[in-house]
Amino acid sequence: MFKKILIANRGEIALRIIRACKELGIRTVAVYSEADASSLHVRFADEVVCIGPPPSYQSYMNIPQLISAAEVTNSDAIHPGYGFLAENAYFAEICQSCGIHFIGPSSEMISNLGDKAYAKSAMMQAGVPVVPGSQGILKDIATAKKSALEIGLPVMLKATAGGGGRGIRIVRELTELEKAFQTAQAEAKAAFNNPDLYMEKYIENPRHVEVQILGDNFGKIIALGERDCSIQRKLQKLIEESPSPVVDQELRTRMENMAIRGAQQVNYRSAGTIEFLLDTDGNFYFMEMNTRIQVEHPVTEMVFGLDLVKEQIKLAAGYPMEDYVKNRRMEGHAIECRINAEDPYKGFRPCPGEIMAFHVPGGPGVRIDTHVYVPYKIPPYYDSLMAKVITHGRTREEALGRMERVFDEFVIEGVESTIPFHQKVIRNEKFRSGDYNVKFVENFKFQ
Ligand code: ADP
Ligand code: ADP
Ligand code: MG
Repeated sequence: MFKKILIANRGEIALRIIRACKELGIRTVAVYSEADASSLHVRFADEVVCIGPPPSYQSYMNIPQLISAAEVTNSDAIHPGYGFLAENAYFAEICQSCGIHFIGPSSEMISNLGDKAYAKSAMMQAGVPVVPGSQGILKDIATAKKSALEIGLPVMLKATAGGGGRGIRIVRELTELEKAFQTAQAEAKAAFNNPDLYMEKYIENPRHVEVQILGDNFGKIIALGERDCSIQRKLQKLIEESPSPVVDQELRTRMENMAIRGAQQVNYRSAGTIEFLLDTDGNFYFMEMNTRIQVEHPVTEMVFGLDLVKEQIKLAAGYPMEDYVKNRRMEGHAIECRINAEDPYKGFRPCPGEIMAFHVPGGPGVRIDTHVYVPYKIPPYYDSLMAKVITHGRTREEALGRMERVFDEFVIEGVESTIPFHQKVIRNEKFRSGDYNVKFVENFKFQ
């Protein structure tokens, strides 16, 4: 097993990884930017290294600084968390060449699957249904036009290196194509340093349903049910639940089998997620694969009674998949709400600032992952996630009831939060009945 892990991240996920390491008896090294000196992940790690100024490209994404921090602290592995360098193949390769274990799949795997157009063709070869679309990258606008006519409008232009909902445009009319192509390309170039786009049929009113998988170094791959992540705003997830209210055991088995087949096709190792779109007729299509732990992993942990981060670390250390993981069954229902430091009454405008009061609820079936305390100051440099509230219940109704109770108890003062928004969604009749899709938030009358 690893002796010391450096965590190349911040916020709640850095804390989450420290917790897993502690339980495994592994020492931890926290890295932090000058803006995060008083952060909880810094306080709870065994060793700490300041890696630079606040902007992430100078700190959390600064590869030379991270590698030297790992070297001076004698860390034998790096956990990248999510975001930042978690899906950066070059970083994984540098780790490898410096003799440091990167906790995730190989750099080659990350680079192949991070290229979303390539990943789709790999899945097609495995016989996994994919969203109909262009064959690979669109060379120019003329090719894009031809593709759009073949696929049939509406279509979606998507950055092949994309993530976090960026570099995506819907095109409903041919006349919109040129502008959409240019803006998506510019956004992709700025965000991912890669302007390449591909095209997909735009699926109307789909649900986003993803399958969690785990693979060991000996070819064993298992699936751990699905998460429904259809409650999204601007293509970013806000609420996730497992199981999906519309997936029955028959569909679950088919989705799990397809996810396993796809992962086997590429010899996948480590924790990963296969994202599907589920259309209104019950057909599902591969969309992309994420080669890292995801923000919403706790809902799967709650229904399976597993610690995915611990399992991910053990798999990276070369342990074979254990029987208790292989034989796990889903139990009950779990829901996660992402609490952001944003003002839902003002278009979800981020509102960094100092936390004056913070009361974290508890009680049966409640889990809260947060790095916030009083008087923590939420810095303006990073994403605005403050806390993840996860509730578990015997039934969906029980999990939702617990979520309502949690929001009654939660006290956050000093910054605005997305709690009022979540409260309204949780009480909404359509949401309550499970009848929602990725368009839900767009059509939701919040105020
Ligand atoms: P998940 O599928 O785990 O919910 P998200 O797509 O919401 O993942 O992204 C998780 C986090 O990583 C978010 O903070 C998001 O802003 C960030 N992120 C995702 N993709 C990228 C990327 N390619 N570059 C930088 N940050 C990213
Ligand atoms: P990212 O890498 O940014 O996470 P995804 O490919 O996962 O991008 O897509 C993000 C979201 O965009 C999905 O969860 C879904 O809501 C929407 N989306 C993506 N592709 C399509 C499509 N072909 N038709 C309709 N909606 C889509
Ligand atoms: Mg995605």
